[in-house]
Amino acid sequence: MFKKVLIANRGEIAVRIAATLQEMGITAVGVYSDPDRRAVHVRACDEGYPLSGRTSSETYLRGDKIIEIAKMHGVDAIHPGYGFLSENEDFAQMCHDAGITFIGPSPKVIRDMGDKIIAKTTFAAAGVPVVPGWSGDASADGKALNSEAGRIGYPILVKAAAGGGGKGMRVVEKEADLAAAVEAAQREAGAAFGDSRVFLEKYITRPRHVEIQIFGDAHGNVVHLFERECSIQRRHQKIIEESPSPALTPELRAKMGQAAVTAAKAIGYTNAGTVEFILDPEGNFYFLEVNTRLQVEHPVTELVTHRDLVRAQLHVAAGHPLPFSQDELTQDGHAIECRIYAEDPARGFLPSIGTLGRYIEPRGPGIRVDSGVEQGSEVSVYYDPMLAKLICRGRTREEAIEKTVWALDRYVIMGVTTNVAFLRDVLTHPEFQRGNLHTHFLAEHPIGPSTDEIPRDAWIAAALLSGAASSRGQSLLTATAAPSGPWESAGAWRGP
Ligand code: ADP
Ligand code: ADP
Ligand code: MG
Repeated sequence: MFKKVLIANRGEIAVRIAATLQEMGITAVGVYSDPDRRAVHVRACDEGYPLSGRTSSETYLRGDKIIEIAKMHGVDAIHPGYGFLSENEDFAQMCHDAGITFIGPSPKVIRDMGDKIIAKTTFAAAGVPVVPGWSGDASADGKALNSEAGRIGYPILVKAAAGGGGKGMRVVEKEADLAAAVEAAQREAGAAFGDSRVFLEKYITRPRHVEIQIFGDAHGNVVHLFERECSIQRRHQKIIEESPSPALTPELRAKMGQAAVTAAKAIGYTNAGTVEFILDPEGNFYFLEVNTRLQVEHPVTELVTHRDLVRAQLHVAAGHPLPFSQDELTQDGHAIECRIYAEDPARGFLPSIGTLGRYIEPRGPGIRVDSGVEQGSEVSVYYDPMLAKLICRGRTREEAIEKTVWALDRYVIMGVTTNVAFLRDVLTHPEFQRGNLHTHFLAEHPIGPSTDEIPRDAWIAAALLSGAASSRGQSLLTATAAPSGPWESAGAWRGP
């Protein structure tokens, strides 16, 4: 097993990876930008080295600097987390060339799966259902573009071959808008990914996003660890994830798991990965893409399978066989994850920056908080505004929802505006509780910007700050209790 592993990341995921490394007796090496000098993830590691600079491109995206630090300090392997360099085949190759293990699949698999056209073509050939579409050269032949779109049928989704993070997608309702949408998507993709290729897909209306966790080792073993439903999305980005999916029957689960394993075997997949599908209301599922890394939402899988996915990643990366066989894996109970963002639902979810004041994470049986912040942390413009993930496990979905709502109500975050109250309103929505989820859930249901954020926190803070509330808590509590205060209008959404 490795002796020293560098975590090429920051925030909650760096803290989470450090924990497993240390449990296993492996030295955790952290790296940090200037604004992160005093960040929680640096203290969570056993050693920490600076990546001088402020922005991501000056720091966490600088593979050269990271490898230099790794070589200087005798690092055996690098864990890239998610985002940043995690799906960068050049970085994976640079690690290999430097004699350092990259904890993830091979550079070739990362490259092929980073290209959605190659991924779809490969899997369609292996018999995995893919969304009907067309990946010809859109700019070469306007006639072909129109006739192919007509064959697929509107609405059409124009997608970037190199897309990620929900970017570079456009829905087209009719032929008159197609050429312009393709051109705009090409420009956008070129600017965002340095690759302007786009392709067409049938736009599935009101689908669910259901993905399968896969795991492969260097000995040819591939298993899946069941599904995660991630249909609660805003701008194609996941906000709430759960496992199991309320939509899957045992038969459908087995079919989707098998399709994901077939896909993984077709490309010789090693380490942790996710095969994403969309599921239409009739129960047809279609491959979307493979994420060649640990996923943000991996904890829901950990809580229902009782497996530490980072531990398994380390085993496999060190050349050991998978620590579990398909037969040993089961789903036990139900887990829900909420992504806690420093953003303002009342202002179009604009990131909210500032210094965290009072910060208290909820605690209780079945409650896990993966976070990278504490009281006094700076939430800056430089990085993703996700502060933490709240993951709750119950025996049933109902129990998991109840627990999550309870925990959200006790999550105290002062100093920045957060989406905590918004999340609570999603979880208590009758359609969410019925399990009637789809990717347009937030667009279709009257869940809008919350106005009660500060008062809610004030109630909690006042309640938590010993018997006598502090003067700040007290004054906020008074303001909150005023009959005309925003507390009164809680629930009266002003949706966009
Ligand atoms: P997941 O499916 O695990 O949510 P995403 O693909 O949405 O993964 O992204 C994971 C992380 O990587 C997020 O923090 C997201 O902001 C970041 N990310 C993904 N793609 C990009 C991109 N093209 N540019 C910037 N950040 C990205
Ligand atoms: P990214 O790399 O940005 O994560 P994906 O291909 O995984 O891109 O798509 C992100 C989200 O966009 C999906 O979770 C789904 O909500 C939506 N989406 C993608 N393709 C389709 C499609 N063909 N029809 C309907 N929705 C889609
Ligand atoms: Mg995706």
